[in-house]
Amino acid sequence: MSQYDLDLFVIGGGSGGVRAARISAQHGARVAIAEEFRFGGTCVIRGCVPKKLLVYASRFPDAFEDSAGFGWSIPEKPTFSWADLIAAKNADITRISGFYEENVARAGVTVHHQRAVIEDPHTVRLADGAKITAELILIATGGAPASIDFPGGEFAISSNEALDLPELPKRVIVQGGGYIALEFASIFAGLGAETTLIHRGHKILRGFDEDVRDDVQTGLAHRGVKFVMSDHVVGIERGQGGKVVRTHCGETIEADEVLFAIGRRPLTHGLGLEAAGVECDHHGAVVVDEVSQTSAPSIYAIGDVTNRMNLTPIAIREGHAFADRMFGGQSARIDYANVPTAVFTTPEAATVGLTEEQARETGGAVDIYKTRFRPMKATLSGRQERTMMKLVVDGDSQKVLGVHIVGEDAAEMVQMAAIAVKMGATKADFDQTVALHPTVAEEIVTLR
Ligand code: NDP
Repeated sequence: MSQYDLDLFVIGGGSGGVRAARISAQHGARVAIAEEFRFGGTCVIRGCVPKKLLVYASRFPDAFEDSAGFGWSIPEKPTFSWADLIAAKNADITRISGFYEENVARAGVTVHHQRAVIEDPHTVRLADGAKITAELILIATGGAPASIDFPGGEFAISSNEALDLPELPKRVIVQGGGYIALEFASIFAGLGAETTLIHRGHKILRGFDEDVRDDVQTGLAHRGVKFVMSDHVVGIERGQGGKVVRTHCGETIEADEVLFAIGRRPLTHGLGLEAAGVECDHHGAVVVDEVSQTSAPSIYAIGDVTNRMNLTPIAIREGHAFADRMFGGQSARIDYANVPTAVFTTPEAATVGLTEEQARETGGAVDIYKTRFRPMKATLSGRQERTMMKLVVDGDSQKVLGVHIVGEDAAEMVQMAAIAVKMGATKADFDQTVALHPTVAEEIVTLR
């Protein structure tokens, strides 16, 4: 008989925590999970899922416009209801969140709807005062939007609030040049808001391939996003007609909403980590080794709270691998190489593997195959649109090291190309694959 109440206590009901709890229970462990808000975490409640639904909504105006080139005439100007969209989005989130909770409960996991903090390496204290002991504790508390202090900072919103605004703002300012800033700028611009993106750097999407950075910015600018580069917001005041933003370089811009998307921080504050001997880095992220173990041997951490690779599918894999290793007798490990990722702007960008710059830094020979073309759909619609495709190839082995695409369905294409990259496909393998005609994706096997 174990000296503990449970084999595992999971703190956090997001994608990673739920997967770890469910699989551990299926392996026969006695498991409980605590979630203080709703099940689903960032991805389901205030990230990937609601964001993507808003992305879909933001693309309809283009479709209405393009349809004219294919013989359609729309009798009246289409109208849009932000309230209806948000209500539909919220209903879907409630559905998915319920599904998450049902799944863990069905696997035999005890569910606690309250905050849990760590009291010692084997004890968790719930908000109602109950103490539960467990052989292992898993921290899966995720992250939250980062904020900075400046005059009027209280007038800025984060992506959390942006997903539930009471009405669609007519004018939006977004500060930031990463995934979230660009995706929201693209959504608001697509839905018709006058959108200005302010970024402290001279180019957006630091870390992405230079061609991707250029083409996403050009594409967004075509769709009406105004860019203010190498600048940042230093103050916000309430004006008569909205919020007045002052920038470091002296610009004054008025808007209805000011969204800050300047990164995310791990949610570790007040969890009792110090007392339990769990080390955090200077960003507050839990420090873990390659099997997600913290400096306290009975405590593990997965997902965004560890700030390794802040992507839902990675948190899920980390949670699954943890459960398989601890309770399934398997030596599962995560391979962080060649993880595909996408920025769901319009135009969309997706990427897997090395950028051209990263490949060149290795010092070896690098071959680049690149094309920019007008997709077939744009011929009749008349839309001034280009798709960019780029392969980064090792000059010696001819292995495809990276695939980068900007354009419609880039993410769908890169998910497939990622399999080839993961398998170590060479440029000759791509060339030997017969084109599927007529598609946009066929260009990837005809690059010369
Ligand atoms: P990112 O780290 O991607 O981008 C943060 C941006 O904010 C950068 O442009 C950065 O500039 C800028 N910035 C940072 N600090 C400041 C500051 N003090 N003042 C002004 N600008 C600042 O963070 P996001 O918030 O966009 O997203 C967080 C993470 O969530 C991502 O890294 C990603 O892992 C995940 N995510 C993934 C998505 C997807 O897969 N589609 C979608 C959304 C999020 P600089 O470049 O100069 O540092």
